[in-house]
Amino acid sequence: MKTLPFDLNDVKRWTKDVPTPFYIYDEEGIRKCVNDLNAAFAWNKGFKEYFAVKALPNPSIIRLLKSLGCGTDCASVTEVLLAQKCGIDGHNIMFSSNETSRAEYRAALDAGAIINLDDVTHIEFLEQMGPLPDTFCCRYNPGKFNITNDIMGHLYDSKFGMTLEQLKEAFAILKSKGVKHFGIHSMIASCSLDEEYYPRLAEELFRLALEIREELDINVEFIDLSGGIGIPYLPNERAVDIFAIGEGVRQVYERMIKPAGIEIKLFTEMGRYITGPYGYLVTTAIHYKHIYKEYIGVDASCCDLMRPAMYGAYHHLTVLGKENEPFVGKFDVVGSLCENNDKFAIDRPLPKVDLGDILVLHDAGAHGHAMGYNYNGKLRCAELMMHKDHSTTMIRRAESIEDYFATLDVDPAFGK
Ligand SMILES: *Cc1c(COP(=O)(O)O)cnc(C)c1O
Repeated sequence: MKTLPFDLNDVKRWTKDVPTPFYIYDEEGIRKCVNDLNAAFAWNKGFKEYFAVKALPNPSIIRLLKSLGCGTDCASVTEVLLAQKCGIDGHNIMFSSNETSRAEYRAALDAGAIINLDDVTHIEFLEQMGPLPDTFCCRYNPGKFNITNDIMGHLYDSKFGMTLEQLKEAFAILKSKGVKHFGIHSMIASCSLDEEYYPRLAEELFRLALEIREELDINVEFIDLSGGIGIPYLPNERAVDIFAIGEGVRQVYERMIKPAGIEIKLFTEMGRYITGPYGYLVTTAIHYKHIYKEYIGVDASCCDLMRPAMYGAYHHLTVLGKENEPFVGKFDVVGSLCENNDKFAIDRPLPKVDLGDILVLHDAGAHGHAMGYNYNGKLRCAELMMHKDHSTTMIRRAESIEDYFATLDVDPAFGK
């Protein structure tokens, strides 16, 4: 059963100041999640979570995560600037980008970030921009690798990372150019609920690190297991036990790395796992429509949360205050876009929904607001942080019509 950390009275209080739709994030939930993650990997000296900024690029969230010891994983100029504005700099930024532009590398280099190289050809690209930093991470794409059922598509079709040969070549070139510190990164699963995923990925990367030590006389100082740990979107799914995952990785470390008499720092770049379950999209039922099917129209649209439209993703839905009422039928819960995929739920069993009822979409804290967009002239909604005492802080206001028109100031009708 999916539950909420707030109730109808809370929402009624909040909506006096902030109209729906809006996102709300549970500060205590995120705090506990990160503390548990850090505890699960406390056995590894140097363990660090680099939060994948793309999942929830809000400075209040980033500052909260920083206070809990996290760095950030960034992939663009704006993500780097956002991290820096939150006081995160240097090696506390992992820069894991792909098809990176010069401007993006410039921002990462200026910040002193760890560059996580996506391809061997990028070494030359970077050299044209100035001296190479003394630390590099290289992204590995193992091609064929059946360690979990939650693989991100077929790895031969994945545009990310280097082949084994290219990765070794990159390490050799970097070493010859005076680079001193090395790491390996790999991300080959998405939303994995398999507790064996990290241990088996770690095993593969530890093996690779030992091979590189042997063949190239390079000490791989850190291994970045990246993101990919999943959350239970469906009510019948079970959350992973992060302590079991940490322990699983520890056992592989003890078996493979300890006997070599070396130490390797472990990094993660989780996004979804850190904030996904602790974010909610709050919306109001504004219409009821009966044609060939039954529709409940809400004031949010897939411009606010595109995962159902984009991936057919399931997001659990609670009709606030009616948690214990019986289902009266199956409904499509839809937004207002002129697109027939603007549906938060299809054939969802729900209690009787009255106009004005508050509907809460669960598990929207990662890749939710972040993926928002302006199609049909929709304006992105506000984000709130819910504190321990259920008071809230607005951590991003809703977009205004002025915001929407701001880039049209090149047009005389809109110019200042
Ligand atoms: C998206 C991404 C992540 C975060 O993935 P989650 O599935 O949200 O944990 C981490 N690292 C890189 C390089 C990514 O692209």
